[in-house]
Amino acid sequence: MAFDLVVRGDLVLGERILERGYVAVKGGAIAAIGQGAPPAADETADHSGMLVFPGLVDGHMHTSSSTGWPGIEGASMSAAAGGVTTCVDMPYDVPRPVTDAAILAEKIEHVNRLSHVDMALYGTLRKDGNVEDVAGLVAGGVCSFKLSTYEYDPVRFPRIDHPTMLRAFAEIAKTNLMVAIHNEDQELVEKLTAQARAAGRTDPIMHCRTRPPITESMADLEIFEMALETGCHVHIAHSSLARGFALAEMFRNQGARTSGEACIQYLCMTEEDLIRLEGFGKCNPPFRTREEVERMWAALTAGKIAYVSTDHAPWPRERKLYAGDIFAVGAGLTGLQSFAPLMFTLLEERGLPLTLMASLCAERPARFHGLFPKKGAIRIGCDADLMVMERGAFRFDATKIQDRENARWSPYDGMAMRARVAATYLRGARIWDGERVLARPGTGRFVPRQHGECFLG
Ligand SMILES: [Zn+2]
Repeated sequence: MAFDLVVRGDLVLGERILERGYVAVKGGAIAAIGQGAPPAADETADHSGMLVFPGLVDGHMHTSSSTGWPGIEGASMSAAAGGVTTCVDMPYDVPRPVTDAAILAEKIEHVNRLSHVDMALYGTLRKDGNVEDVAGLVAGGVCSFKLSTYEYDPVRFPRIDHPTMLRAFAEIAKTNLMVAIHNEDQELVEKLTAQARAAGRTDPIMHCRTRPPITESMADLEIFEMALETGCHVHIAHSSLARGFALAEMFRNQGARTSGEACIQYLCMTEEDLIRLEGFGKCNPPFRTREEVERMWAALTAGKIAYVSTDHAPWPRERKLYAGDIFAVGAGLTGLQSFAPLMFTLLEERGLPLTLMASLCAERPARFHGLFPKKGAIRIGCDADLMVMERGAFRFDATKIQDRENARWSPYDGMAMRARVAATYLRGARIWDGERVLARPGTGRFVPRQHGECFLG
């Protein structure tokens, strides 16, 4: 059998690193994996001495929350440069969120025309709870659902009240798909924000003070009670608290299908970083304390976190500028291009194995979203999606972000990194060479959910 491509390097597999290995590709899929002298192929990419990971799967990001579907183009470019070969994009798009099969079909058409990497999609429901559209969204290929306990906008990002949420969970439970929840308590946040404003406190730290941990854990408890009641797989879209994972585990032990994910910022950023970064450090939920970051790592190493994502939200720079009122700044961070170097660096700093990145940032998100084994691992039969990392002393430079000019900002700008993404391959094609994105808009494809099995870890 003649292969199309052989990629050589140290392969980061699920549980181990295969040194001086190779991946042989045929027809865009992984056809052979081995060690030592590689077989003959039309083309050889020699990354000897570098680490070859599975292409990352970012289970939570927003291409279109600020710019609409044209945002798919730039966000997916930064994904390619960051070694993220599959994005799972959120449905809260401008001007219309993905709430029925017709809108989904239109978004898929945009993905196939604009994306530089493969993309799976979440669906959502309107504020009035159009549960009759759940089956059509699932038939159209959504991999998961997203709903919120907190309202940013009554149309784009509505709060779903408890009776509607219960109905939605009961309907989604029939499909076995996961529903990820934005978990903040509306009443508490609104009250605390009003009090802060009345006291004339609109400085950056007040973003944390008006969204204290209990605003998150209250929402966690409500959604998990409804998970227990309905049998639906309910997932915290972003827990900034180790307590979120403990609650998910407690409900699982009682028979519920519950889980939670961490975004990478909650594994390294603290309240002090918000004070330093001002608007460029604002996200929801907010950064927590240094002690909480340590508890997050304890949860991670104990295997309690479903997976690690970015919650990438490339707001135009002008929406992130703090001008005396932190509440007026858009919430969300860029994170796709920094994802791999930062996760690599955090694991190395803590002396943890790099196989954790292959697991938590590729295989597990692919499994939770029903994309495995097509996506998420270096394994025969999987798509040949690979990320090559070169060790060294690098600095993350936000001006190098491969997105539109006003999205080239990062909370990690200037941070020392212990590796960089030297190459990215999507279905066997090189889409990033360490300097330039080689993919074109439309190189990426929509990836539908592959099966209806529930995965809880
Ligand atoms: Zn998000």
